[in-house]
Amino acid sequence: MAEQLVDSFGRVHRDLRISVTDRCNFRCTYCMPAEGLEWLPRDEILTFEEITRVARIMVERYGVNGIRLTGGEPTVRANLPTLVEMLAGLGTDLAMTTNGVSLPLLAADLRAAGLRRVNVSCDSLRPERFEELTRRDGLARVLDGIDAARDAGFDPVKVNCVVMRGVNDDEIADFVEFGRTKGVEVRFIEFMPLDADGIWTNNLVVGVNEILARVNEASPVEPVERTSAPASRYRFADGSGHVGIVASVSDSFCSTCDRVRLTADGQFRNCLFAVTETDVRALLRAGADDDEIAAALEASVASKWAGHQINRVNFIKPRRSMSQIGG
Ligand code: SAM
Ligand code: SF4
Repeated sequence: MAEQLVDSFGRVHRDLRISVTDRCNFRCTYCMPAEGLEWLPRDEILTFEEITRVARIMVERYGVNGIRLTGGEPTVRANLPTLVEMLAGLGTDLAMTTNGVSLPLLAADLRAAGLRRVNVSCDSLRPERFEELTRRDGLARVLDGIDAARDAGFDPVKVNCVVMRGVNDDEIADFVEFGRTKGVEVRFIEFMPLDADGIWTNNLVVGVNEILARVNEASPVEPVERTSAPASRYRFADGSGHVGIVASVSDSFCSTCDRVRLTADGQFRNCLFAVTETDVRALLRAGADDDEIAAALEASVASKWAGHQINRVNFIKPRRSMSQIGG
């Protein structure tokens, strides 16, 4: 039997998220400060060859079957289609989460390079509010990016919407309508305490039950059987597509989590909320062989905790914010 990346609770890890850069052309209020963050020096960022080597070890040894590129904003990394082509050679599902603004330029090349799926983040369909939220005047380009992704043949195209109370929770019905008419799957995401400015409070979180009630009001849905994926999925009763809710705070899916992460600077994280990391870049650059790298990955996963402790006294906010981890 193939080796597995398994932790002490028996969870087998097959889903790898790779942040390809910490840089971003947006400054979303729930993620980054207005002035941005201090970007990593270029020589601290993993090369395409280093990223592909770690991914190859995980795919070949441990049966990792899903890779998602993220950031920062992955499309600001130069020559991204080249990396996609290298990773596509590993034969796994290959997806990307993006803010969408570069998709009008890049979607066709990414698709041709072997990217299979794309999630576009969009938290408001109102231009002024979008600009307040992202601190960029970019809604029209993001909407063009969603169209470009569909035109390039990405299927499904999903739209990630972080819901915040009193900020954009009055747009849930609009997003439902948008998803149904555009033929894209909207995924409502609970606001998580990983923002760089420390604005998160539990009062800003709109929980899964409330989101679901508002979705149902807009258009009745029925649940789809749950998988290890973090989104609870629902199908519209009239057959017009699906919608998802990622209840990371109020109904955490830690017990079925099969994800691990590699940051742009080569730190391996066994949880989105992990407070410790494994320095894979140091191993790569010290000439470690595949066995040594694999042993470090296995040890990290073996020590994974049962789940995050958001809203408990022992919750420790990770040193890195969402844009530095990758979501
Ligand atoms: N820049 C890309 C984007 O925005 O899609 C990829 C990186 S971004 C960190 C990945 C995902 O995390 C996005 O869907 C974003 O909306 C989400 N995100 C960022 N900060 C968040 C927070 N504090 N709570 C919940 N989701 C968050
Ligand atoms: Fe950039 Fe994505 Fe964070 Fe927005 S959510 S600031 S687009 S990394």
